[in-house]
Amino acid sequence: MRAAIAELRRSGHRISAPRRQVLEALYAASAPVSADEIAGGLDGRFSSSDPASVYRTLELLERTGLARHVHLGHGPGRYAPASVGERDYFVCERCEQVRAADPRALEPVREAIARAFGWRVRFNHFPIAGLCPRCAEEADGAGYGS
Ligand SMILES: [Zn+2]
Ligand SMILES: [Zn+2]
Repeated sequence: MRAAIAELRRSGHRISAPRRQVLEALYAASAPVSADEIAGGLDGRFSSSDPASVYRTLELLERTGLARHVHLGHGPGRYAPASVGERDYFVCERCEQVRAADPRALEPVREAIARAFGWRVRFNHFPIAGLCPRCAEEADGAGYGS
């Protein structure tokens, strides 16, 4: 987070208290969080703040390469600090469980798709959707996907 603040300063941006709080919340969250969740104070861990200003700060962080967003399900985009590294995501369509994965582990999948369809795909902006292991087990015999 210190590096992120330094980077913002270096690119000529002021570190106002609200901006600092967005950064703190982003780094404190264990999973990608939405602008509204940050504005709501992450369940009491931070004081609540103006959603529009949180959103503008997240956009600024993304423009400066300090944060990324991912769409997990039908809700709004969710943000994570860029410093956690590239992440691909799975999301369960039944229980909405999210799992992050190292993109290198999905490289064979990307290569297979590129060979078969010519598409170069990534799963860090829109995740792979389907059933998590538990829901898949429950759905066995229910004909999901057939
Ligand atoms: Zn599930
Ligand atoms: Zn997006």
